[in-house]
Parts: sequence; structure tokens; C-alpha cells
Amino acid sequence: MVKIARSDGKYCLGIESSADDFGVGIADFDGTLLANCSDSYIPQEGGIHPREAARHHAEVADSILQQALNQADIKPNKLSCIAFSQGPGLGPSLRTGATVARALAAYLEIPLVGVNHSVAHIEIGKLTTGAQDPLTLYASGGNTMVTAYTAGRYRVFGETLDIALGNCLDVFGREAGLKAKQGLPIGAAIEQLAQNSQQTLISLPYVVKGMDLSLSGLLTAATTTLQTPKTSTCQPSHSLEDVCYSLQEHAFAMVSEVTERALAHTEKKTLLLTGGVAANKRLQTMLSLIAEEHNAAFSVVPKQYATDNGAMIAWTGTLAYKFGLITPIAKSMVKLRWRVDKVDVPWIQ
Ligand code: AMP
Ligand code: MG
Repeated sequence: MVKIARSDGKYCLGIESSADDFGVGIADFDGTLLANCSDSYIPQEGGIHPREAARHHAEVADSILQQALNQADIKPNKLSCIAFSQGPGLGPSLRTGATVARALAAYLEIPLVGVNHSVAHIEIGKLTTGAQDPLTLYASGGNTMVTAYTAGRYRVFGETLDIALGNCLDVFGREAGLKAKQGLPIGAAIEQLAQNSQQTLISLPYVVKGMDLSLSGLLTAATTTLQTPKTSTCQPSHSLEDVCYSLQEHAFAMVSEVTERALAHTEKKTLLLTGGVAANKRLQTMLSLIAEEHNAAFSVVPKQYATDNGAMIAWTGTLAYKFGLITPIAKSMVKLRWRVDKVDVPWIQ
């Protein structure tokens, strides 16, 4: 990134398009979120098809942009910069958002700000809850990590070694015949089923390795459990509700164990939960108990800012822009595996 002098601008428009969601948000420089509009690509069947997701984003971009400007009630010429999710994420999806952002920035003759998607999830959590210097569990469809700020960057204290927590839930749910609906992601459907279970805990793989965890074996075992023949005399049959319950208990206990160890190590005074899976009440309960045991406050990002959204990109864009960090078009290519611990965050003292 290149440093420039701060301008007198007041609003940043942020574009999020890293996976299945296309979102546009508008934030002012003091942290007021003026707009947060989005539309999700819902696959006909199976998981996210990157090219289909990109096509969806291109189709809705115009109307979501318009909606966001209407919601914020500001004219494009009042914008001081355009922020976009530069990575990590799916290439075709990211590129669509980046193309829209470049076109807007060039047309309006204002700077472009490439934002790290994971940093944005942490920053929106801090803004909307008031959490100060938290240890953060960021759990979503594409990422699962425990981070905290140290020496200029968000450092990773533990993370998944394979699939993300949300992805584990989504793949299991699809195998179980659940379908995502607008406003009801598969993770939320699993949560509802688990709430209606008999709470019979089925033993499933629990894999924590040092400070990291692995969810793929758990996913395979939970899926196989679904396929146990109901007529078999030697193997018990399980209701879908109980499998959902057991999957949640194992997966959430694993991320909670890593989070607790990081909390004990860092002695942070606030634990923040952010990302799409943050909406889950059972995960919230487990983490709030851990926070209590370690005399830390517990904060959860509000639901509308938990899942991927444009407001988090807009807000993080203002933070970067205020520190003179802009992204020249020539350096605005997307970064599919851009780790959170590779990003300088000079706005944090
Ligand atoms: P994101 O990747 O941040 O957009 O978040 C999407 C992920 O959050 C998907 O994997 C969803 O299944 C998951 N998710 C959303 N709501 C819930 C919930 N209530 N419980 C568990 N997972 C959820
Ligand atoms: Mg998403």
C-alpha cells in the first residue's frame, strides 16, 4: 500500500464479495454505519460454485449499490474512498467485487482501499460491541481462528488445520438434506434441530492439536452416523436432532478449548466472538462461561454484522484510509490466501 496525506472526506463505501454474499456498506469516519445491504447467492445444490457466485455478484451489484446509497441517503460525490474485500476468499467472487470497486473509484476519482476480510470481521466486532483489545474467535464459513493484537498485527493463536467451523456445519447439513434459505443459513437450521434434540451425546472425533484443531474427521464421522441403518440391531440409530446436537457439542467444545487456552495465555480482558457462526446461541453460551472463568468480559457481534457484510469493509476502510493507507489500482489484485497476521493495523495503538 502507498501512503497519502489524509483528505477531508467523511464517508467510505465498502464492498464485500469474498464468497457467497455480495454486500455494500457505508460508514462515516467516526464509526457510524449508515448502510449495510446485501444479497446472498444460494446454490441450487451442493456448496458454493465460485463462478456461479461471481455471476450472482455481478448481477446484483448495481441494485445493492443503489440500495446502500439510498439507505445512507448520500450522493456518490460525498464519498471519500472506496474500500473492497481484497482477500482471503474465492477468486472469482473477490474479483467481481474488486472490479466494481475499481470502476467506482476511477469514475469518482477517489482512492481505493484494499481491506483484509478477516481484519474487517474483527474491527466490526470491536466497533459494534465496544470491545477493547479483545481476544477474538472469528468463526465463519471460510475461516476459524483465534486472534489477538500484538506488536502491530493481529496474531493467530490457534486455527483450524483443515475446514472452517461454518463449512463443517454447512457440508454436514447438506448431507443431511438441509437447504439454506434466504435468512436461514444451514448453520442456523442445525442449531434449531439441536435445540429440539433429546440431548443424547453421540461420541464423535474430538481433535485439538496444540493450539490448533481439525474438523474434517468430525464432519466425516457425523455424516457417517446419519447413514447408520435404522434396522441394524448392533448399531444404534440416532435422530437427526441428536446428531446435530452432538456435532455442535464436539465442534464448539474444540474451538472453545483453543480459545480458553489463548485467553489464559494472553490474559486479555475481553473475549469477542465474530463471523457468521457467532449467531449460534450454544457457541455463545460456551464462550461466555469461559470468559467468566477468566474474569474477562464477553462480547458477540450483532447478527446483522456477524455474517459477511459491506459495513465491515467500509468501516475498516475508514481506519486504513485515515492512516493514509490506499491501494493503487496496479496493486489491487485480489489475494486469495491473505492471512490476517500479514496485515499491518497501524490504527491500533
Ligand atoms: P460468513 O462466512 O461469515 O458469511 O458466515 C456464514 C456461515 O455462518 C455459514 O457457514 C453459516 O452456516 C454459519 N451460520 C450462520 N448462522 C449460524 C448459526 N445460527 N449457527 C451456526 N452457524 C451459523
Ligand atoms: Mg458468507
